Amino acid sequence: MVRGLLSFGSVMLAAGLALSAGFHVSGRVDLLGVFRAMPEIDAAFQRGFRSDAISRINRVRIPGGVDEVSGDESLQAYLESFVQVHPEPSSLELDEVFDALQTRFPGAQYLAANLVTSRNREDLLGKIGGWIAVANPEFDAINTTVFRSGGRLGALAVMSRRIPEFSLHAANEKGGRFHNRCPHCKVIHALELDRDSRTLILSCPHCELPFDVLAVDISGEIRRANDFFEGFTLPGEPVSEEGSDEDRILALWQRIATHCTYELDQARPSGQEGEVREVWKRPSETWHEATGDCEDTAILLADVLVGAGFDARVAIGWNGNIGQHAWVVVKTAERQYLLEATLQEEVTRDDLVELGEGTDFYRPEQLFDKERIYYTTASPESFGRDYFSESLWKAVPVPPAGELSQR
Ligand SMILES: [Zn+2]
Repeated sequence: MVRGLLSFGSVMLAAGLALSAGFHVSGRVDLLGVFRAMPEIDAAFQRGFRSDAISRINRVRIPGGVDEVSGDESLQAYLESFVQVHPEPSSLELDEVFDALQTRFPGAQYLAANLVTSRNREDLLGKIGGWIAVANPEFDAINTTVFRSGGRLGALAVMSRRIPEFSLHAANEKGGRFHNRCPHCKVIHALELDRDSRTLILSCPHCELPFDVLAVDISGEIRRANDFFEGFTLPGEPVSEEGSDEDRILALWQRIATHCTYELDQARPSGQEGEVREVWKRPSETWHEATGDCEDTAILLADVLVGAGFDARVAIGWNGNIGQHAWVVVKTAERQYLLEATLQEEVTRDDLVELGEGTDFYRPEQLFDKERIYYTTASPESFGRDYFSESLWKAVPVPPAGELSQR
C-alpha cells in the first residue's frame, strides 16, 4: 500500500506578497481632497468600482497568458460588511483581514490583500491595477470595497482563490485540492488526493491522527474503505450453526481459501496500455473473479464473517515478512484470532492463530469494518495483541450531519 496523501501543513497565504505591495496612507494633509466633492459610496458605486478593477486586472493577466479573474459574491458581501463595521478602515491591519476571511471562508486558501488610498477613483483603480499580486496565477477572484478616509478614498482589495470542501463526490468529480475540518482536532487543513495510490490514508497535518481510509475501486472511483463491505453471502449451503465459533470461522474461511487464488493487481489486465492500476475489489468481485490480493481477500473474508454474526475487522499495516499488508481479525466470546487471508487451498485449525506472541510481526495501523475506521495511539506491544478494545482502538469520530458534508 502506498500512502497517497500530500498534505499541506498550514493554510497558505500570500501575505508576503500583499505586505510588500504596501499600505499606502499619506500623512500629509490633503487640502485639495477636503474641498473635492466626494462621490456617494453606495452599492452601485461599489459594484462599478469592482467591475472596473476586474477589467483592469484582466488587461494585465490576459497578455501574460494567466486565467482571468472574476468577483466572488459571498466574499464581496462579507468584505463590505467587515469594512463598514471597522471604525477606521484605513488603519486596518492586513492580518486582521486574513484572519476574518479565513474564519468565515475556510476554503480561502490563497489570499492577498492591499489597502490603498487616493484622492480620486481613477487613481485608486490605477494603484490596484499596478499591484504585483494581480498577475499571480494562483488567484481567481478579486474583490474590492471602497470607503472614505478623511478627505480621501480608501479601497481594500483582496485577491483570492477558494478551494472546495472535501467530499468523496467532489474528489471523484474533479480531484485536486480541498479543504477539510479534522474530526479529531477540528482544525481546517488542505489536502490533495493522489488517485494513483491504492490506499489513501488521510491524516491530519496538525494532530497527525488518521481520519479516513479511501481506496480506488475497479471502476476507478474513490470509495471509503467501509463501503467495500457489502454483506456478501457465499453461494451454496449455509455453514452449519452446530459447531463451535472456531469451526464456523474455519468453514467459511476454507471456502474462500479453496476458491480464490492470490494474485497481485499487477497481473490483472489494466484499462490503458502499460497502466498498472492498484485497486480494491468488493467481496462479490473477488469471489466472482476467484482471485485477489491481500486486501481483496481480507475484505471478502471479513465481510462474510460479519454476515455470519461475528465481529470481524480488516487490519491494514505492516507485516515483518512482506511489508505493507492487510489481514483479518475476528473476535469470539473468548478469543481474538488473526486470519491471514492470503492463504490458499487448505486451511486447518493451526492456521487460526490466536493473537499473542506469535502474531507480533503483524503491525496494524488502522482497522475498519462496515461502519467505522479505528486508529490507535497506544504502543505496539499492547495494541498488537488486542484489536477490539475501545481503550486501545478508537473509532474516527463522524462529524454531525450537516456540519461538513464529508460523510
Ligand atoms: Zn487534527
